[in-house]
Amino acid sequence: MLLDAPGRPLRAADIPTPVPGQGQVLLRVHACGVCRTDLHVADGELPRPALPLVLGHEIVGTVVACGPGCGRFGPGERVGVPWLGWTCGSCRYCLSGRENLCPEARFTGYHLSGGYAEHTVADERFCFPIPEGYPDLQAAPLLCAGLIGYRSLLAAGDAERLGLYGFGAAAHIVAQVARHQGRRVFAFTRPGDGPAQTFARDLGAEWAGPSDADAPEELDAAIIFAPVGALVPAALRAVAPGGTVVCAGIHMSRIPEMPYDLLWHERVLRSVANLTRRDGEEFLRLAPAAGVRTAVQPYALERAGEALAHLRGGEVRGAAVLVPAVG
Ligand SMILES: [Zn+2]
Ligand SMILES: [Zn+2]
Repeated sequence: MLLDAPGRPLRAADIPTPVPGQGQVLLRVHACGVCRTDLHVADGELPRPALPLVLGHEIVGTVVACGPGCGRFGPGERVGVPWLGWTCGSCRYCLSGRENLCPEARFTGYHLSGGYAEHTVADERFCFPIPEGYPDLQAAPLLCAGLIGYRSLLAAGDAERLGLYGFGAAAHIVAQVARHQGRRVFAFTRPGDGPAQTFARDLGAEWAGPSDADAPEELDAAIIFAPVGALVPAALRAVAPGGTVVCAGIHMSRIPEMPYDLLWHERVLRSVANLTRRDGEEFLRLAPAAGVRTAVQPYALERAGEALAHLRGGEVRGAAVLVPAVG
């Protein structure tokens, strides 16, 4: 499925099967999660995508061929491909454990061809083995929703009372990890979205309500997954002195002007960007240990546009996942 230009619908196209280059593996794609970032790319909210582009950065596939210099994975192995697709390895960020901030980084389904396809290639150094016990579809959302959620949870520190703003693919995974760690979870959804609130309670949130409501008590941290700038002052208002608000999205609408009082008393406002390979290794060990189960809505690959529309409309419970026809 090709994106010819931002704002244009995705189009089914026959393109040559990619040939794996140095250090790359060729994968047959079994499943690819649909992430909000894909919407931001498709809408032109992120600069300079590599057009025409195959979106998708939550790829589960099996290796069918290895390029020169490969050795980490062999044919038949099941691997996952995340958003971080390549880094320079030599800048001050790469050399200090912060490859997520590498200015030369290339991202899957943005600068590099992604997983809305039957085949893709990926640099094997940035792929992960998929934990056993997760079928392909259920594994796909771990690769971005899970990873970014995990990095956001780390950024939230040891907060006991955790607010989650936007209860989509990432929050539904983080809520389970947070409960496993003994935290208390408070879920904020779009006003009127009763089903999302029920979904959040089912996954262990002790309270779920609309994002324009007050939390039932002070929070120690909040993670904002929804790309809505107005949630920043709302979340700062909800956290106690010393609390942290983490913005987890790659794009957000403008943050309204706000009084300094909301930040005063050592409240912290920060973002989380991308992932490191270390995040991936840690999280993919933690997810099975924490008993994380993902809820997925499968779509045939050629219905990618519909999946994006449903994500935009808040109609996806858990994560949308594309499945190429077997053949
Ligand atoms: Zn670098
Ligand atoms: Zn993503």
